[in-house]
Amino acid sequence: MSDDKLTFALNTSTPQSEPDTSLTGEALQRENVIIIGSGPAGLTAALYTARANLNPLVFAGHELGGQVSLTHEIENYPGFPDGLSGQELVERMKSQAERFGARIKMFSAVTEVDFSGGPPFTLKTDDGQAYEAEAVIVTVGATSRHLNVPGEKELTGNGVSYCATCDGFFFRDKQVVVVGGGDSAIEEALFLTKFASRVDVVHRRDELRAGQTLQKRAFANDKMHFIWDTVVDTIQGDQAVESVLLRNVKSGDMTEYKTDGVFIFIGHDPNSDLFKGQLERDEFGYVVTDSQMRTNIEGVFAAGEIQDRIFRQVATSVGQGTAAAMSCERWLAARE
Ligand code: NAP
Repeated sequence: MSDDKLTFALNTSTPQSEPDTSLTGEALQRENVIIIGSGPAGLTAALYTARANLNPLVFAGHELGGQVSLTHEIENYPGFPDGLSGQELVERMKSQAERFGARIKMFSAVTEVDFSGGPPFTLKTDDGQAYEAEAVIVTVGATSRHLNVPGEKELTGNGVSYCATCDGFFFRDKQVVVVGGGDSAIEEALFLTKFASRVDVVHRRDELRAGQTLQKRAFANDKMHFIWDTVVDTIQGDQAVESVLLRNVKSGDMTEYKTDGVFIFIGHDPNSDLFKGQLERDEFGYVVTDSQMRTNIEGVFAAGEIQDRIFRQVATSVGQGTAAAMSCERWLAARE
């Protein structure tokens, strides 16, 4: 067994009714379907597997909803014409899944998995409990890279954002700074020009990483401006963002620059380290799935931002969670 996998061994031949403590030294809880993660993909997979009578157990992680719960208003999720907060949306998704019998374990994170030789697959949570599952749906999402500069954390949600689609609307006729020079930064900066009066792209080099088509569109847009060879050193403001301290990386010169918002797009990292060496991942670390949300391990499915580096929307994650749950149900039924 490699270092990446569980260090506790399991006797899978023990009858289902008796918890196996022979090899692990700890009680082993047997489950049908385990869902790791409680974002839109995970909670939707929970709803669908619960309605299929699969009695799913969800490990919510340390924050119900993950990234989406940090979004103060979601206006592009169909069915909610007046918008709602990310937190309210995930609470609604949670209660809908629970209504059909999904069990959601709050503040509980999976720390180890072993998909080798399964099913059943084995998992361990941060409270030391071990589980066995006939099928697993992985929905642990991705994390926006942070600048890790003073003011960033304090002003997140009050002018600092990692999602133009979510927050752009609040910057109508305002001035914003976009940090980054890749496809995401330029695409999101262009999106922000629909609302903001001026968008300044702050990039650490003197040429963009973004593709040529995006670059052409960006340079042709009157609202877009570029501050080259520069990084954001500090984000300033009392209640909300008021300015940034910019540092020219060539001259070292520092400048205070007034702005209403700072949008940071310096990449995302899928939260896939837990599955390293077990689930196939692409060059960026995203879990590879087929169109039915199947991973390289039969019986292990993945949905949402852990496997989607293109769309990254609540609506697409919900769709992928649905597909993963339906594939899971079909796979379990075929084994009976
Ligand atoms: P990315 O391509 O890795 O670009 C990240 C950008 O942020 C780079 O310009 C990088 O600068 C800058 N950066 C990184 N760390 C920084 C730091 N600490 N401080 C300041 N700047 C920093 O990430 P992405 O734009 O999110 O794209 C990820 C992948 O998705 C890429 O393969 C991209 O092509 C793809 N994508 C495609 C589309 C599309 O096709 N429409 C849209 C979005 C994303 P350097 O350039 O100096 O490294």
